[in-house]
Amino acid sequence: MSALVEIRDLVKTYGEGEAETRVLKGLNMELAEGDLAALLGPSGSGKSTLLTILGTLMQPTSGEHFMLGENLSTAKDAELTEFRNKHIGFVFQFHHLLPDFTALENVVFPAALGAGRETAKDKKRAAELLERVGLGHRMDFRATQLSGGQKQRVAIARALMNQPELILADEPTGNLDRESASQVMELIHEINENEKTTFLISTHDEKIAASCKRQIKVVDGKTVAD
Ligand code: ADP
Repeated sequence: MSALVEIRDLVKTYGEGEAETRVLKGLNMELAEGDLAALLGPSGSGKSTLLTILGTLMQPTSGEHFMLGENLSTAKDAELTEFRNKHIGFVFQFHHLLPDFTALENVVFPAALGAGRETAKDKKRAAELLERVGLGHRMDFRATQLSGGQKQRVAIARALMNQPELILADEPTGNLDRESASQVMELIHEINENEKTTFLISTHDEKIAASCKRQIKVVDGKTVAD
């Protein structure tokens, strides 16, 4: 398997002078196509920082970040925006759905981001994705009318909209009850299996981590051990 993502000597420092906090201290990692990896580490160890950099939403202080062979650490903002929209999907702990929009409108949203406006084909794909995550009967419900687990399944459908190679999930089950959490994980496994989408999932939950194919640990902002 070839590397989808490669991180070399990644350093991230917040603040300056006395307030300077060095969070990532020369971290190395690789994600292969088709990986389903849990990202572990104590609170404050830099998991969100790493996910934010991998998502191209923040540049590292130093080090290299490659994805799909592109050197993202030297890319310009506009290039990163385009790259992110095409190749990376996000799932957050608090789903971040637009509350007054329907499930369908939320899922189709990333397509509109790239092209300015969604097409009928995009809407069809969004509807298919909602069927896929078991919410075909809730397409026209507003986000506020859905349960926590349903919202998270909508968020997964939205992350899949632009057919990204990589989905980054920051504590996707952190806010869910056991049953909803295992449904969300089953769905992630199914998508990983069928579409070979690569997932990196930060979690505190040992069971969820153990269910992933790989476990990557951030220790002292540095050692990323499997
Ligand atoms: P985790 O996701 O593992 O809990 P984070 O990446 O959120 O860790 O945070 C790592 C460290 O960086 C923490 O000590 C946190 O306080 C600090 N930190 C995170 N974001 C910022 C920021 N924008 N400015 C300053 N410090 C930050």
